[in-house]
Amino acid sequence: MDKQALLSDTQGHYGSTYSEPLPASTAAAFPEGPQDEEWASAPPADMLDDVVGYEGTIAGGEGSFVLPPISIAEATRRSEPSPQRAWSIPTITEDVAREAFIQFASSICCYSTKPAKEMVFRDLQAHNTYRYRLESFTESRSTEWKMVPYKGQFVDNSTYGMAPLPWDIIVERPPMFQNDVSKVPVPHTSSTKGCPTCMTLGRIACTECTATGKVKCWVCKGRGYQLNDDSCSRCNGTGLQCCGKCSGNGKKTCKTCRGSGQLMVFIQLTVKWKNNILENIAERQSGLPIERLDKINGQNIFTDQQFRVSPIVAFPDSQVNLASQKAIQEHEIQLARTSYIIQQRQTIEFIPITQVYYSWKDEEYSYFTCGIDNKVYAPDYPAKCCCCSIL
Ligand SMILES: [Zn+2]
Ligand SMILES: [Zn+2]
Ligand SMILES: [Zn+2]
Repeated sequence: MDKQALLSDTQGHYGSTYSEPLPASTAAAFPEGPQDEEWASAPPADMLDDVVGYEGTIAGGEGSFVLPPISIAEATRRSEPSPQRAWSIPTITEDVAREAFIQFASSICCYSTKPAKEMVFRDLQAHNTYRYRLESFTESRSTEWKMVPYKGQFVDNSTYGMAPLPWDIIVERPPMFQNDVSKVPVPHTSSTKGCPTCMTLGRIACTECTATGKVKCWVCKGRGYQLNDDSCSRCNGTGLQCCGKCSGNGKKTCKTCRGSGQLMVFIQLTVKWKNNILENIAERQSGLPIERLDKINGQNIFTDQQFRVSPIVAFPDSQVNLASQKAIQEHEIQLARTSYIIQQRQTIEFIPITQVYYSWKDEEYSYFTCGIDNKVYAPDYPAKCCCCSIL
């Protein structure tokens, strides 16, 4: 069954919310814990029961993705308009720019601070920009069939009730905007089956010795005698030795059921929380390499956190308004169809960038100070090596 069919079926059964906590015995039935990837494996397809609401669930692979019901998605679509506010935008002064430059020059041992100290300011040009960031914290759910060896643990089968639908199962959420994964067994979907690997015997024939418990003696290679025609002392002339793989039993414990001959099959729900981030830095054509901008620390001047944020419309820089509109639209298309958006947050960071034009020894140069920590970018610094420059 495809995902779309599963969705419509899921919605058809929507209404009652499953809030009954998972029975304590269920947790006790999985001593190794659901976080362990080796905990459970995929059962063969002919072993799977029909569970209402889980018809599309398969065994193995990535599991079957379950779309959130429309009722959940719609509930969060309504959102408050973004608050109107007076934007206060910081500035950078000549003194700050010069101080940053001196510090920059002295921080690199091979640079002479002389030009930085002696330079004559010609001009300051602001290329201040903004970093817009949209975070959408999503939850997605998938189900798949799993099996574990059955060793007499509690079997939460269908006689305890109908299996709750994937989005009705209450799973504790991590803090907002924090990636996490949680795996839980779907209540009332467990059942026991005979292990097909060992035909319920718990043991399988050893392939190393073809179930005889004996293999060729490694000293005489199975001949029973050695090169001088003496009987092999290792195997007493039998040419055979005990099989190391099965300790001479001819049989090994079945790995699938770990010797019990029985398996417990159930549907596992995987819940993934992800913080999806889109960033945009308003283009200024300042001449500063774009990859530098990613590393610059800005000053947060706006945060808006809601179920669903609305596009920013009245920010003085129209590129920010456009970035906000595009990012919200993009996440709507990308995420809302495949997962449930729990919360969104949009922020604007102010990134001060000042280009400083100066002269030193009758030559013209320029440098940039960037970010709230006034990082300097000066590729044409005139005295890069104090060891060899004649100053
Ligand atoms: Zn031997
Ligand atoms: Zn063997
Ligand atoms: Zn088995």
